[in-house]
Parts: sequence; C-alpha cells; structure tokens
Amino acid sequence: MTAEPKKRVCYFYDANVGNYHYGPTHPMKPHRIRMCHGLVMNYGLYKKMEIYRAKPANKWEMTQFHTDEYIDFLSRVTPENVELFGKEQAKFNVGDDCPVFEGLFEYCGLSAGGSMEGAARLNRGLCDIAINWAGGLHHAKKAEASGFCYVNDIVLGILELLRYYPRVLYIDIDIHHGDGVEEAFYTTDRVMTCSFHKYGEYFPGTGELRDTGVGKGKYYSVNFPLRDGIDDESYKSVFEPVIEKVMEWYRPSAVVLQCGADSLSGDRLGCFNLSMRGHANCVKFVKKFNLPTLVLGGGGYTMRNVARAWAYETGVVVGQDIGPEMPYNDYYEYFGPDYKLDVRPTNMDNMNTQEYLEKIKLQVFENLSRTQFAPKIPKDQQTFDMDEDDVDPDTRNPVQDQDKRIQPDNEFYDDMDGEGEHKSRNEHKPSIMDPLKDEIKEPDAYVDTAKQVFQVVQMR
Ligand SMILES: [Zn+2]
Repeated sequence: MTAEPKKRVCYFYDANVGNYHYGPTHPMKPHRIRMCHGLVMNYGLYKKMEIYRAKPANKWEMTQFHTDEYIDFLSRVTPENVELFGKEQAKFNVGDDCPVFEGLFEYCGLSAGGSMEGAARLNRGLCDIAINWAGGLHHAKKAEASGFCYVNDIVLGILELLRYYPRVLYIDIDIHHGDGVEEAFYTTDRVMTCSFHKYGEYFPGTGELRDTGVGKGKYYSVNFPLRDGIDDESYKSVFEPVIEKVMEWYRPSAVVLQCGADSLSGDRLGCFNLSMRGHANCVKFVKKFNLPTLVLGGGGYTMRNVARAWAYETGVVVGQDIGPEMPYNDYYEYFGPDYKLDVRPTNMDNMNTQEYLEKIKLQVFENLSRTQFAPKIPKDQQTFDMDEDDVDPDTRNPVQDQDKRIQPDNEFYDDMDGEGEHKSRNEHKPSIMDPLKDEIKEPDAYVDTAKQVFQVVQMR
C-alpha cells in the first residue's frame, strides 16, 4: 500500500471543558477530555495539527435541530432554580441521568461549538480532518435530553456539512446505539447512519438490525447489533467489510466518526472487550478513505482509558504512532500502576459467535444492496461552488461535478431567476440550503423550515 497522504488536522479544545461536573457519583466526567488533552500536548501532537477553541454554539444554532422551547429551558435552568421547572424537567427528561448542573448550557455550547466549527472548517476546505473530543453526544433528541446528552452536537455538525456535501456518512462505534443521530436523519438519504453497538437489555434499547429507515431514508440507517465481550478480531471482521461496502455503495462526500470509548475493555458502563488498538483501528480504517472527516468523542466512563484511547487516536489522525511510554503530564497519577499508553483486553467470553456476526453482516449487505448507488440531489436543486465558465467542458467529470460541494460560504449561483451571474457573498443576502429539502431558503425561513424538516420519527 502506498504511503497515506498527510492530513491537515484541526483539533478543537476548550480548557474549561474539564471544569463541568455532572455530580460526584455520575459516571460522565468531562474531566476525561482534559486528561486526554494533557496526553496530546505532552506527546507533542500539537506540532502536527492546528488547535482551536471554538466559539460556543448559541441558542439559534442549537435550534437548527432542537426545539426553541427545549433550548430555552436548557439556557435558563440552574441548580438554584431547578425547583421552579418541575413540569419541564419531566417533559425534557432532565433529572437523574441528565442532571441540571452548574454551567450546563455553557457546556452544551462548547461541545456543540467544536463540532459545528469543525464541520465548517471541513466545508471551507481548511482542513482534512477535524477532531472534537468534547462532542459525540449522540443520544440527545430534538426536544429531550437522554443518556447524559443534552444538545446533539453531531446532528448540528452534520447539518453544517449538508450545506456543502451531498452525502454524509455517520459512523458510531460507541457501545450504545447512536439513536439521536439515527432518529434525526431517519427519513433522508442524504445521511447514512451506521451504528455498531451492544443490543439486548441495554440502553437505549433501540438499534435492531431491522430498523433501516423510512420513506426516502429506507435502508439508509444501518444497525449492527452486538453481544457482550466482542474482541478486536471479531469487531474488525465486521467493521471493515461493512464500512467498505457502505463506502462503495453510498459514496459519501464527508464522514462523521463518533468514537465513543465505552466500547473499550474495562469500561465502567460497557461490556465489550476492545483494546485501545482495536478501537483505534476503526479510526485508522476510516481515515484510509481520504474523505473530509469529523472525528468526535462520545461515551467512555473509565477516565484513564478514555484519555489513553483518544490521545492514541489523535496520533492516528495526525499520522504519528505514539509510543507506550507515557510522558509526564498533569494527570500522571491517574495512569498508574503501569503508566503506559495501552488498554488491554481481558479474558472475558465473547458472546458474538462467528456465525452470528456473519449472519448479521450478510443481512446488512443485503439491505445496502437495496439502496440507490450514490444517491444524487436532483439536478434542478443543485448549486455549485465553482464558476462553470472556468471549467473546460471537455475535462469536466460529471460525477465529480455532482459531488462538488453544493454550497459555498452562504453564496450560490442564482440561476433560477435567469440572471446566471455569480454574486459575491457581500452582494446578496446570505441564504442557507435547507439540507433535507434540497431547496434554498432565506435565513428567516430556515428556522421555521428546520423545524418542519426534523419532523422526527417517533421512537419505535
Ligand atoms: Zn455510550
């Protein structure tokens, strides 16, 4: 195999993220992201990427997916006034798993801000891969918190990508089903969601093999249900061929990879048996396809292992295999007794037999074969970021054209009114493409249509 091209990598990190606390007994600890960052810095990975602090997502941005009412609630509720929101707490599922803590809304803003800005930089071609370990909160619903997630940074990031890219592939290797993302895009072929997860008496309870999408989205949701104890070899034996096939059929123009680390061996809430390298193999494999990629965090409840895995995966992304000898860092004591960069599998039983995995894989292939090859946006609804006069008609590749970024920085060819001229972004009002309707809307309409677009399918 030829050497992989060097990637331009953007990494999003906000030094405040580690200060947010879900509560002393809560398994979700944002501090793990700070621990990971300590490793990233001390391994010298910062030399190989650009590090950014994203502008936190604001309320308006969040309501591109979520309801105004829900976001308004999140922005107002505090541990001090939570008693006044009894009704809302029940309605928005805020309480035990998803507690109200100090700075909750800021935390949501910086998680979502990193994913949205990562997507925006990919859109503008400013980097090849963007990383946001504070993102990946895949359970959040349109009007409901769920599974430690409040604002779905992934859906918001994908919406941003859909402004430019015709097809986005979402891959989820968290041990839990990526239900919030699947639900948001259940009825469209512009996003294919592909989740590998523990299924059977396990949170959130969705993600059956036969849940494949509805309407235009039929067969564009892929679910690979797994049993306890899956190891590196078994995981690889399904992940690689499924992703290969998805790439072949769907031909995504951009990828979002959720790297939930609760699928690692020894996770406090998980029951898989993946090593750090087995987990990172997914990142390595996806990277090989050379597509604009947004790499996100997610679950992960044994903090030292989450930090290890995501630091190692940051190395994979920038193309540096970081060694097992851990450099001294602010959280060194967490990594004892071995102080090594490794997460090893245990001898737990693998309940996924080869026959079982093979059977599921074949069914997934069967479903994929029913999808349309690289579904296109209808011609009359396309906008391109290239000046067509600049392109030699003889050298134009129609497939490439179709896959061109579909909308540049809030600017498009206004051919519909017959002028056919290229207006600069300052000359006309910015317009935003309604991603799932493939139509161009004025900004005022966008908020409303966004609400209509996400007529989220009721949970099955
Ligand atoms: Zn999870």
